[in-house]
Amino acid sequence: MAKITIDGKQLEVDNKLTIIQVALEHGIAIPHFCWHPRLSVAGNCRICLVEVEKFPKLVIACATQVTDGMVVKTNSPKVVNAREAVMEFLLINHPLDCPICDEAGECKLQDYAYKFSEGVSRFDFEKVRKPKRVELGPNVMLDVERCIMCSRCVRFCDEIAKKPQLVFIQRADHVELTTFPGENLDHPYSMNTIDLCPVGALTSRDFRFKARVWEMSSTDTVCPGCARGCNMKMWVRNNEVLRLTPRYNPEVNDYWMCDYGRLNTFKYVNAENRIKAPLIRKEGVLANQTDSGLVEVGWDEAIAKVASELKSFDEDEIAGLCSAFATNEDNYLFVKLMNMLGVKNIAFLQHLIEGDEDDILIRADKTPNNRGVREVGLTSSINGSGWEIILRRIDEGTIKALYVIDDDPGADPRVAETLARLDFFVVHASNENDTTKLADVVLSSSTYAEKHGTFTNFQGRVQRIRPAVTTAEQDRALDGFAMSRLDKFGAHNDRWMQGPKCDARPTWRILTCVANALGAKWKHNTVEDVFNEIAATTESFKGMSYMKLGLRGMLLKTKVEVVAAPIHA
Ligand code: SF4
Ligand code: SF4
Repeated sequence: MAKITIDGKQLEVDNKLTIIQVALEHGIAIPHFCWHPRLSVAGNCRICLVEVEKFPKLVIACATQVTDGMVVKTNSPKVVNAREAVMEFLLINHPLDCPICDEAGECKLQDYAYKFSEGVSRFDFEKVRKPKRVELGPNVMLDVERCIMCSRCVRFCDEIAKKPQLVFIQRADHVELTTFPGENLDHPYSMNTIDLCPVGALTSRDFRFKARVWEMSSTDTVCPGCARGCNMKMWVRNNEVLRLTPRYNPEVNDYWMCDYGRLNTFKYVNAENRIKAPLIRKEGVLANQTDSGLVEVGWDEAIAKVASELKSFDEDEIAGLCSAFATNEDNYLFVKLMNMLGVKNIAFLQHLIEGDEDDILIRADKTPNNRGVREVGLTSSINGSGWEIILRRIDEGTIKALYVIDDDPGADPRVAETLARLDFFVVHASNENDTTKLADVVLSSSTYAEKHGTFTNFQGRVQRIRPAVTTAEQDRALDGFAMSRLDKFGAHNDRWMQGPKCDARPTWRILTCVANALGAKWKHNTVEDVFNEIAATTESFKGMSYMKLGLRGMLLKTKVEVVAAPIHA
């Protein structure tokens, strides 16, 4: 340990740390561009210069280890002068056109220019001109003029992604970032370089120039792209999701997320094929019929139809399919409903892509809640008879009705053929798919972007998702959405909640309505009520609450070994 003083504050700290680490840990801000807690120290931007008593010159805080008795000043006149000089130097060739830069509003250089720079330029010469639109790879664009050569992106590729694809060429003020000859920036984590870039040099080809940061609200949620459950922020303008960025959680994803999750887990929220309202199959050709013969109806009619059809079958003639895409709350109530009906034929599908896994983040299991389904759904009290058995019984004609939540078994043509034989088929779905085409009733369900709930990741960590966009259902304040407006971590900026909406309900609420139409007296007014019931009745969730889950989630109490589930790849 070392006793040091920073800006008059006396601290006892680990003597293996650097000045910048100690300062940030104790809430003392030292500006930095090239330093990042997870990257090696480059020490090239010089903006973190600080004064240390008895040292002849200023030192860079990122590369100077603390020693006992050290006295550090982060804002002395010498330091302030040095920072101004660094900023002046960085801005010599940097374009001074923040209003048209995609990074404006979330740019360190812009922030520091306001804070630490003199505000006038003494540079009367022509700036060095460099390429403005370089496609570094499929997802990342480079504006070479804006690069301040901090090397964060280069070090990320080398050290974290383990794919050295970026390099500097040329010298002095002609230095340029580029890819190695014959290489593209195309590794699965390439877009983290955009988050790391402290200026507007690296931008997302998907998002660039779509919105300014101050036009959007952001909501803390979890990626549903695989069983890792990376923590992320969902950015929304006018009820439309525009981008996802990683959110720090050292237990799950650290500072990163993969490009697949970032680009492929939100576009279906605002897609054309959203199911706008409940649908029922009706005979004859009707004006508002879809191509697959379904007609939009109100919720009361759809729920009544499901309840009356389910009542008309024996318990052995019904099967249910949980979903590893649905939340713990959804699966819990689904199993509760199946129990109420006496249904034993219950299963869920795994979505594994063997080999598509690494030792950074990406998991072969492409669902967010495989672990949760096992914990709250297919527990030992329910003898999951397996999907293959269910399909065989449908083919034999002994299972006549199937209830599916938030999955697409009909995507497999062999399965679709079997499902077409059902007498009654009800599906919860947010978007049209191969399964909804076969259904007799489609109940329009909310996506993960429109509801509260929890997923349990492969580690057994229970994490909250939160609504970032609204549905008509939420507008009627039936989803406890009032709670999210008060929730400081959730979307709460009403100004941006004005876009198009569909009449979707979260699966847990639809299930409550169906159960009550069947005579149950379930009293879950909010999804939090459902979670509290899980916590009260399921050993591994004991002691958990939404409040306690907070921003980083909690591990399940009992580490139930993940066993093979009914398999359908
Ligand atoms: S592109 Fe951005 S992250 Fe990469 S070196 Fe330049 S400024 Fe740094
Ligand atoms: S690793 Fe998985 S959870 Fe993380 S961002 Fe990628 S797809 Fe999403």
